[in-house]
Amino acid sequence: MTSANSSTGAEKNERRDIHALTRGELAELLASLGQPTFRAKQVEEWVWSKNARSFDDMTNLPKPLREELARHLTLGRVEEVARQTSIDGSRKYLLRLSDGVSVECVGMPARNRLSVCASTQAGCAMGCAFCATGGAGLTRSLTAAEIYEQVMHVRADFGSRVTSVVLMGQGEPFMNYDATLEALRRLNSPDGGGIGARHLTVSTCGIIPQIMRFANEPEQFTLAVSLHSAVQKTRNALMPGVRKYSLVNLYNAMGTYVTKTGRRPTYEYALIGGVNDTESELQALCDFCEGTLAHVNLIQLNEVEGSKLRPSTPERAQDFVRALARVGVEATLRNSRGADVDAACGQLKQRMGRTR
Ligand code: SAH
Ligand code: SF4
Repeated sequence: MTSANSSTGAEKNERRDIHALTRGELAELLASLGQPTFRAKQVEEWVWSKNARSFDDMTNLPKPLREELARHLTLGRVEEVARQTSIDGSRKYLLRLSDGVSVECVGMPARNRLSVCASTQAGCAMGCAFCATGGAGLTRSLTAAEIYEQVMHVRADFGSRVTSVVLMGQGEPFMNYDATLEALRRLNSPDGGGIGARHLTVSTCGIIPQIMRFANEPEQFTLAVSLHSAVQKTRNALMPGVRKYSLVNLYNAMGTYVTKTGRRPTYEYALIGGVNDTESELQALCDFCEGTLAHVNLIQLNEVEGSKLRPSTPERAQDFVRALARVGVEATLRNSRGADVDAACGQLKQRMGRTR
């Protein structure tokens, strides 16, 4: 077979995935196939906005062009290998990527909203003591298309528009910064997911240089930081991967972030009985947050099999909400959605690994 365009590598039968092509590369390929310029927009719409499953789905393209595209490119899709459905309507999926690696994502419906929790890496290198993903280490970072595809999978499964996305599945988004930002931009774009920037949230364990980079991005994306303790010694033990980014530096970085963006960040705090819910921990948390714009999301620890860590009592959780309110800090105690389906990140994958 002779190829019309060598840059796709088609002669060597190394077909690239269409998601990996830049707009320029796609336009170049289509031009080399003798296509008019408007084709690039049509094809992009099928790939990113209409979430086509195959080149044959692209019904407004001439059939010979669809065949030609399939000869030159692949149209990679995530494949669902397992799911769990919660009594609260959440659906948790285990999705296999083209190289066999699998990741988790969750769809959480509520009235006329649909939130998606997506992964940015398969596994994670940060090693947090309370996290099912952290225990297994990092397999690899995901591409922007693989992050985006998870959201599209949930959209297709629920058959409804996705109204918000949190990158709180497996992995540390700021250890995969460029792909994460590209995925966020695709999700935000009217030609892609069409989701408002404020409804796209990145959660980081606190990689300070990347927080600073994020503060300079032009979009109004939302930032959440996993704090889990405002006492250095406790945080070092719980989150060994961010030891080198001290709480003092994190505090200053978040101050700069707020000044630069004017946006309200969130601190995530998983309450762990006897570890980060003592009186001195509560005092340190109040001191850390008082006078800042931050909102605190308290969540009861999701128990991870094989771990000795346990959630706090509900009464203790209420103490935290009240104490933070007294120093003027807004705090919410979130229910863990889908707790009955192992919703803490990494747990479905862990279970599937055991049963296979
Ligand atoms: N790596 C990023 C995003 C993925 S983790 C981060 O750490 O922020 C998403 C959130 O789930 C984080 O706030 C994380 O601390 C929290 N988390 C992980 N394991 C948990 C568990 N067992 N119980 C409650 N929250 C957990
Ligand atoms: Fe990684 Fe986040 Fe889990 Fe920590 S909590 S191990 S950073 S995924």
